[in-house]
Amino acid sequence: MRMYFLGLDGASAQIMFEFDLPNIKRLLGSCHYQTCMAEEQYPYTGPSWTSIYTGMSAEEHGVTDLWGRNVEGSESYDTLRDPVIWEMLGEAGMTTGVVHMPMTTCSRHVNGYIISGFPNELDHAGSAAELMPMLQARDISDLIRLTPRDRILDNTWYRKYSLDQSIDIMKEMVRRKAEAVRILVRTHPVDCLFVQYSMLDRIGHLLNQYLRLRDGADWTYEPLLELYAWLDGMLGDLLDVGEDYELLVITSDHGWPAEATQPYTHDGKVFGAWHSHDGVLVTRDLTSAGRVHVGRGRECYNRDVCPIVLHLLGLEYEGLRTNTNPQPRERARATVDADQTVEDRLRALGYI
Ligand SMILES: [Zn+2]
Repeated sequence: MRMYFLGLDGASAQIMFEFDLPNIKRLLGSCHYQTCMAEEQYPYTGPSWTSIYTGMSAEEHGVTDLWGRNVEGSESYDTLRDPVIWEMLGEAGMTTGVVHMPMTTCSRHVNGYIISGFPNELDHAGSAAELMPMLQARDISDLIRLTPRDRILDNTWYRKYSLDQSIDIMKEMVRRKAEAVRILVRTHPVDCLFVQYSMLDRIGHLLNQYLRLRDGADWTYEPLLELYAWLDGMLGDLLDVGEDYELLVITSDHGWPAEATQPYTHDGKVFGAWHSHDGVLVTRDLTSAGRVHVGRGRECYNRDVCPIVLHLLGLEYEGLRTNTNPQPRERARATVDADQTVEDRLRALGYI
C-alpha cells in the first residue's frame, strides 16, 4: 500500500470540520476524521510535529522548544534518540520522500529523499513571480540552526510587504510547490510521500505581526478564514500529486482559533490570536481492506498519529520503534561547531 501524507501546519479542527468549506466537506465524506490534540503544555510546532513523527509524548522524546531547537534542555530533530516515522518505514523496506516537514534536516537517514525544513521566510530580491519555493524561500529550520543563540531570528520581512502582498506570495509558493511536487513524484517515485504546507500557520502569525506594526489599528481577522477558503479551492491541486496513493493522511500539529475579536497582550506583546490545541487527523483508505471507518472519530493526541498511520499501512508500531536504529546521538552531535570559523576548521584539518 502506498501513502500520501499531507501535513498542514496549524490547520484547526474547528475550522476544517465545521466551517463552510465545500471541497474539504466532500473529502471528509469519504474519510475518517478526528480532532488531533496537541499536548496541553506544548501546542507548538517543534514538540507537536516530533510527537507526530515518533508516536511519543514530548516528555518521552524530549523536544520541548517551540521550534525544536537545542535550547533550554530541549532535544532537536538532529539529536532525537528515537526513530521517526520515515526511519521506521525504511526499516519496513518502504521508500519515502519527505518534503518540508517541519524541523527536519538532512542529518538522519531516509530511504529515499528529503527536502528538509520548513520554508517561511519571504525575503528575496525579486518579484513574487521569481520565487522558487524549493530553493529560494528561506527555510526557517536553517534560520533557527544558523542564528547565533544570543540573537533573535531575522523575522522582519513583513516590514517590506503589505499584508496583501505577503498573502499573495504565500499563495504563489503553495501553487509552485504543488507543481514541483508533481514533478518530484514523476522523477522520484516513492512508496510514502510526506509533504507539508505551512500557510495556515503563517497567516495567523502574519496577522499578529501586522497587528503589532500598526499597534492594533484597523485589525481584521478575516484574512485567516479567507485563506482556509482559498485552500479549499486549492485542495484538488494539493491532493492530486500526479500519482495514486491508496492511503491518504492529512494531519496538523496544532490549530488556530476560528475567531479573535479582541487583540490581547501577553508579556508586553500584542497578539491577535495564538495556537489552539485542536489539530486534525484525516485518513482515507482507497483499498478494499477497509481499515478506515468513514465518519468522525474520537479525539486523539498527536502522539497517536504515528501508530495509527503504521497500522493503516499494515505495519506494527511497537516492533518498528524497537528495531529501528535511529542515527546515533554521538554522530548527530558531531556536526559543525557554529563557533568555529572555516579557517579554524581548515587549521584543525592540517590545511593551514
Ligand atoms: Zn505549527
